[in-house]
Amino acid sequence: MALELVVLIKVVPDGKEVFVDPVNFTLNRSMATNVLNPADENALEAALRIKDEHDARITVMTMAPPFAEPFLLECMSRGADQAVLISDRAVAGSDTYPTSLTVAAAIKHLGKVDIVFAGEKTSDSSTGHVGPGVAEFLEAELASYSRSCRYEDGFVTAERVLEEGVEVVKIPTPAVVTVITDSNIPRRATLRKKLNAQKKGIIVWSLQDIGLPSDWVGLRSSPTVVKKMLPFPAIERKGKVIGLDMMDDFVKELVDTGIIRQGGN
Ligand SMILES: Cc1cc2nc3c(=O)[nH]c(=O)nc-3n(C[C@H](O)[C@H](O)[C@H](O)COP(=O)(O)OP(=O)(O)OC[C@H]3O[C@@H](n4cnc5c(N)ncnc54)[C@H](O)[C@@H]3O)c2cc1C
Repeated sequence: MALELVVLIKVVPDGKEVFVDPVNFTLNRSMATNVLNPADENALEAALRIKDEHDARITVMTMAPPFAEPFLLECMSRGADQAVLISDRAVAGSDTYPTSLTVAAAIKHLGKVDIVFAGEKTSDSSTGHVGPGVAEFLEAELASYSRSCRYEDGFVTAERVLEEGVEVVKIPTPAVVTVITDSNIPRRATLRKKLNAQKKGIIVWSLQDIGLPSDWVGLRSSPTVVKKMLPFPAIERKGKVIGLDMMDDFVKELVDTGIIRQGGN
């Protein structure tokens, strides 16, 4: 039986085009063009690499308004087999809790799923909650912050990048893998797959389709409340060019000014 892989994607505003409103400090995304969240491109590539080696089917999925459709088609043009858009007015205003709940309900609605791939985080809200949240709702094992993974005989082996090194974990399926940004080079779309994607189209599910009550999602079912947003204080950076012969003096200067502390026993 083919492996069933799901890749979660989110369409985000291009970070270079998002500005902080100087009056009310909210994010102004109105001038920004939409892009596929960078880590999700890597998540799709990680799934495609498993499909290169195994009999597998990839479903790419997002919870979003219909503007996400071209991005789902793009994922199919790169090799995903089908695309699901969860679109329902009731999910508007959802924070990461109902987002994870809704996505997990849609995955369950798909039937048997072996591995779910997500990005480590998005470039807009950037919480990194959704992958682990989905794992929790699916009661699936999680390998977060993965830079690579492979599948063999019902197990996923993933290399997790931690602050102090790399941890290799082997977890049974069903599993959720969150993939770090730039961990691979995403492949490009092909014309043939592009045409196939257009022909196949996108599956659109409402909350009713996936059996989720509308009062479980949306703003009112979101535990997070944004009380205030503060501008990040500008950091003043200074540069200094020094030669190797000035190194001792420079280190002494850094110690004297308290920028670094002298080690010792
Ligand atoms: C405090 C707070 C308040 C918010 N309030 C609102 C609000 O009022 N209205 C509003 O529209 N949004 C709101 N959001 C944004 C909303 O919570 C997020 O868009 C959504 O929950 C995803 O969170 P994230 O971007 O942090 O994803 P992360 O957890 O950083 O994403 C990790 C990965 O999960 C997957 N993923 C993330 N989102 C989706 C998705 N929608 N579908 C499929 N896969 C996904 C992707 O693979 C992604 O790479 C709020 C966010 C926060 C933190």
